[in-house]
Amino acid sequence: MAVTEPKIETGHGNVVAESPGLQGFLNERDYEALVKCVHCGLCLNECPTYRANGLEPDSPRGRLYLIRAVSEGTLPVSDEVVDHLQLCLVCRACETACPSNVQFGQVMEAARHEILTHHSSRARKVLSWLFFRQLFPHPQRLKRIGQVLRLYQKSPFPRLMAWVLGRHLLPKKLERLALMEQMAPQLSARFFEPATERAPAQGERRYTVGMISGCIMPLAFAETNEATVRVLTANGCDVILPRTQRCCGALAAHSGDGDASADLARANIEAFEAFGFDNLDSIIINAAGCGAQLKNYGHVLQDDPRYAERAARFAAKVEDVSEFLARVGLTAPMGEVSRSVTYQDACHLVHGQKIRAQPRELLLSIPGLDLVEMRDASRCCGSAGIYNIVHPQMSMDVLDAKMENVLATGTDCVVAGNPGCLLQFNLGLKQRGHQPRAVHLVDLLDESIQKGVAAGREQ
Ligand code: SF4
Ligand code: SF4
Repeated sequence: MAVTEPKIETGHGNVVAESPGLQGFLNERDYEALVKCVHCGLCLNECPTYRANGLEPDSPRGRLYLIRAVSEGTLPVSDEVVDHLQLCLVCRACETACPSNVQFGQVMEAARHEILTHHSSRARKVLSWLFFRQLFPHPQRLKRIGQVLRLYQKSPFPRLMAWVLGRHLLPKKLERLALMEQMAPQLSARFFEPATERAPAQGERRYTVGMISGCIMPLAFAETNEATVRVLTANGCDVILPRTQRCCGALAAHSGDGDASADLARANIEAFEAFGFDNLDSIIINAAGCGAQLKNYGHVLQDDPRYAERAARFAAKVEDVSEFLARVGLTAPMGEVSRSVTYQDACHLVHGQKIRAQPRELLLSIPGLDLVEMRDASRCCGSAGIYNIVHPQMSMDVLDAKMENVLATGTDCVVAGNPGCLLQFNLGLKQRGHQPRAVHLVDLLDESIQKGVAAGREQ
């Protein structure tokens, strides 16, 4: 494959030389996706990391150059290259901007898989194994860890840490640790663990849907998962919640552990097959990052002859909760929610799934609710899974720009359809002396429906 490449400065003095031919790193399919880039630069201004530091290697085009050069054997996989690739949020804003339809997320995940497998320290591999194979796939382990963390969060230690941090009493290295502690999610009072695998529709049944509970949602947003079940049943859905379902695998895939993510995809397909997923009207998810991953199961398992076709059928059933509700229409009575809110397009909803209108449509259907659009609502907030913990400085730089736009709306209530965004906005609000008021769309729908039902009873 003859290619003429422009040269690129890596930002650290290295120059990527011109050289054709695929030498490894990416497989043919991912390489084909990569070479669709025509270097037009239209994605640059949409990239949060490039906007933050202005470095070409921290832009989508620069990262694609680096991956291509490494794939063609003209650039070694140095620590600098790895740093530029790891600093990407995988927000996929570049995909929306790209006229050549470069599937950046697919290319980056393939590159990270290679980095994790062949170019990572033993410590990093052990951490990845611990998180993505021993923790996230096991709801009962997550539940037990949640019990311990809840005790810690109720103890005086977090307040003591905040006091010490506020007075700059910590050495620089420990300051980072303390910041990471601040970013850790405030856990729900209980773990989301439904008593039954089928929640019946209220009134006449219109649909039968499956629901994916997630891994972070049951731990940090159990109330939102409960609200999702209530909103769906109130709108005439039987909701199936298989107990054997697992984490969707998105966090593992973004971090480069494609094998762990494929195992989780197989487990979820089997969990829903036990309930005959072909007969379900939809498989619902309320977390944007998980939704984008679940819809990608066909790609994840395309080379597995036993699962490829089942994965494609499963993926075709997946819908974000906003996508489903806007499609079928709300039938439950709605009460007034007098609140002014702004809406953040979660990256993996707007860029990963092209869902932009439906959540706004649903918000506007809530009586009394005032929706104030912020500037650049579809720009990343800097959360990106565990990115804010791994790259706290860049994450905070991206959040700073975002919070300016949020506060300029005059509201301090941010609605988003992804747990990472909600945690990040609550942190941003707290850091600026506001009440943490980031809420999921279904929390507002649930509040409105509860009021509507109560008003109906009183009449
Ligand atoms: S995925 Fe986001 S952070 Fe990464 S290169 Fe694309 S726009 Fe930039
Ligand atoms: S917009 Fe697409 S084609 Fe243009 S530089 Fe970015 S990735 Fe390449």
